[in-house]
Amino acid sequence: MSNNPDIANPARTQAILNTYHLSAKKSLGQNFLTDLNILNNIVEAADITDEDNVIEIGPGIGALTEQLAKKAHKVVAFEIDQNLLPVLDETLSPYDNIKIINQDILKANLPQIVEQEFESNKSLKVVANLPYYITTPIILDLLKNPVEFDTIVVMMQKEVAKRITANPDNKDYGSLSIIVQEMKQAEIAFEVPRTAFVPQPNVDSAIVKLSNEATFAIEPFDQSKFFGFVRGCFMHRRKSFWNNLLGIFGKDPEVKQKITAVLDEVKVSPSIRSEQLTIEQFIVLCNAFHRAGLV
Ligand code: SAM
Repeated sequence: MSNNPDIANPARTQAILNTYHLSAKKSLGQNFLTDLNILNNIVEAADITDEDNVIEIGPGIGALTEQLAKKAHKVVAFEIDQNLLPVLDETLSPYDNIKIINQDILKANLPQIVEQEFESNKSLKVVANLPYYITTPIILDLLKNPVEFDTIVVMMQKEVAKRITANPDNKDYGSLSIIVQEMKQAEIAFEVPRTAFVPQPNVDSAIVKLSNEATFAIEPFDQSKFFGFVRGCFMHRRKSFWNNLLGIFGKDPEVKQKITAVLDEVKVSPSIRSEQLTIEQFIVLCNAFHRAGLV
C-alpha cells in the first residue's frame, strides 16, 4: 500500500492535476470527487465485497476506482481521455486488481471484455460517477446490453435521477422513468452537493441504484417497439393521450376507429394525460395496439 493519502481529497486532487499539467475537461464531463465519505457511501450503496467484479465508467484520476479496488475482487475501468492514463498508472499503482481500458464506453464490446477480464463465478456490478453529458445513453446502453449486471450504482445530475426514479402523476415521470423501470427497480440512494467536486459543476447530483429485475404481470411484445411507443406518448406532454396517439399513428379515420376500439378494450380514457398511466398500463396498451396492427 502506498503512503499517499487517498486520492479523494481536494489538496491531493489539485496536486495531481498540477503535476501532470492537466485541467479538468468540461467537454468530457470531468468533475472529480474529492469527498472520501461520499465515495465510501457509493461503495456501500453498491454493497461491494470481494465476491464482486466491478465495471467503472470514467475513472478520472482514480478516486472512486481506488475505493472500489479496496473492496472488490477486480475493477475494470473505461476512460476515454488518454491524457489521464499516466495519472492513473501512478495513482492506482498500489492496487493489482485494476485494469484501465482507454475506450469510449459507448463503443466498448462489453460481452467480449467481460468474458476476457472477469471470472464468471463472481457477481458483476457497475459503479460510476458518470460524465453528465452522456448519462442517459450510457444507462440505456447498459440496460439493453446482453451482459447482465447484478446492480448498477451511478452518480448523475439530480434532475435526471428524479426523472429515472419518478412515479406516475409526477412532473418528472416520463419516457425515461418508464423505459428504465420497466427493466429494473430504481431508487435514489442519496444526493450529493456540488461542493463535493473539483471543479464544482453547476448542478447538484444524486446516486441512483438500479437493482433487481422489475416484475410486471405482463411483458411488452417487443422491447424496442415498446420504448418507441412510450417515447411517442410523451412527445407532447401538454396534450392529451389521445392527441399523442394521433401524433404516433396518424389521423386517418380508420386509424382513429382502431385507437378508439383499443382504448375501449383496455378501459383507458382518451382524455387522460400520458403521465397518469402506470408502466403496466403502457405495456397493456402497447401490446393491444400491436394486436390492432398499429405498433
Ligand atoms: N470517477 C472520477 C471521480 O469520481 O472523481 C471521475 C468522474 S468524471 C464525472 C467522468 C469521467 O468520465 C471523466 O474522467 C471523463 O474523462 C470520463 N468520460 C467521459 N466520457 C466518457 C466515455 N464516453 N467513455 C469513458 N469515459 C468517459
